[in-house]
Amino acid sequence: MEDRKAMTDTVTNVPTNVPLGEDYPEIREAIRAICRNYPGKYWRDLEAKDEYPDAFVSELSQAGYLGALIPEAYGGSGLPVRAGGVILEEIHASGCSAAACHAQMYMMGTMLRHGSDEQKRRYLPGIADGTIRFQAFGVTEPTTGSDTTQLKTRAVRDGDHYLVNGQKVWTSRAHKSDLMTLLVRTTPLDQVKKRSEGLSVLLVDMHEALGHGLTLRRIDTMVNHQTNEVFIDNLRVPVANLIGEEGQGFRYILDGMNAERILVSSESLGDARYFIRRASEYACERVVFGRPIGQNQAVQFPIARAYAEWKAADLMVRAAAALFDSGKPCGEEANTAKLLASEAAWHAAEACMQTFGGFAVAREFDIERKWRECRLAQIAPISTNLILAYLGQNVLGMPRSY
Ligand SMILES: Cc1cc2nc3c(=O)[nH]c(=O)nc-3n(C[C@H](O)[C@H](O)[C@H](O)COP(=O)(O)OP(=O)(O)OC[C@H]3O[C@@H](n4cnc5c(N)ncnc54)[C@H](O)[C@@H]3O)c2cc1C
Repeated sequence: MEDRKAMTDTVTNVPTNVPLGEDYPEIREAIRAICRNYPGKYWRDLEAKDEYPDAFVSELSQAGYLGALIPEAYGGSGLPVRAGGVILEEIHASGCSAAACHAQMYMMGTMLRHGSDEQKRRYLPGIADGTIRFQAFGVTEPTTGSDTTQLKTRAVRDGDHYLVNGQKVWTSRAHKSDLMTLLVRTTPLDQVKKRSEGLSVLLVDMHEALGHGLTLRRIDTMVNHQTNEVFIDNLRVPVANLIGEEGQGFRYILDGMNAERILVSSESLGDARYFIRRASEYACERVVFGRPIGQNQAVQFPIARAYAEWKAADLMVRAAAALFDSGKPCGEEANTAKLLASEAAWHAAEACMQTFGGFAVAREFDIERKWRECRLAQIAPISTNLILAYLGQNVLGMPRSY
């Protein structure tokens, strides 16, 4: 109930400003200008060739947008998480995809909050100027899935290194990243008081690791998400690459999750805007039975409903970001935002699919690609059920299911 009280306080005492309307208009316009160089054909061609959007990621990095949340002292722009959300939202609203690069926005926070001065000095400036890609995080494992604390990857201290063995799955962008954060168990489960203890976060230099204990195998997926299985066999990671304290890694990962939720919710908001715009435009243009299809309320109302759901989700994302940026607890709001935004995007996607009729499945219209992509937000990085469990158990105080 402690958690519940903390969450309620964040809602009743809101001394935080929640911006309405087009906040960060210059950033929004600059992102839209970049995205105009990457039209639907760019994404369709990449998908057909199962390739990573190198040009898009490089342009965003060089323009400083992927380092936007890194403090100015390390070469970034020092912007709040809300600004990061605006960047990702505009990318998605423009029909592009930020999946290839979003992770560094929230993982960088783990390094910033818990990394050593040496780690920050060594890596953050390169991440800020785009010369270092920090886009891979290995948390999920094949046998334990959402039950993170049961993960099996083990790191054992061996002098000034850890010897790591185990396996990860769904490690996106690992083959395109210079650095990867790896969540490992450093103290066996039967030697800790709480199952969330004894886990640690290691920073893996991918260039040193590949072929020296680390092997990747790409997973063919329904979206061009560039994700991998990771096999770890006697990988040596310097102790100097431990982030924060040994055994506290789960706390560090959790602590980055509110930012992650807010950022991926922002992508869903962008998706919802994309679908609502495309659907309403098409509903006005397409004439069947002598009138625009949008004149039929059966076509018009699902789009209008999706708009209302997007508006509500947008407010929740803004509230979560405002609390996060003012240093207040925001677990309830960040999780609720993730739930509402992913569902708003999906309902908008469904309305758009139906509005386009047969043309929805013709690839050149991009509707089916965005429809597939946006569905993922209800599964990863956290599934809807796990958010409902968080709200039911941590916010409403009902019995735990796990
Ligand atoms: C394209 C893609 C990219 C990804 N990228 C990364 C990445 O870069 N790094 C990384 O670490 N992970 C990544 N993931 C993994 C992602 O975070 C997991 O897929 C997600 O957390 C769900 O875990 P799971 O797939 O093992 O599902 P499971 O844990 O097996 O769950 C399956 C279903 O059962 C439900 N379920 C399970 N337990 C309960 C319960 N107690 N109550 C109610 N429902 C329950 C879940 O909600 C889910 O719907 C990615 C996944 C995908 C698909």
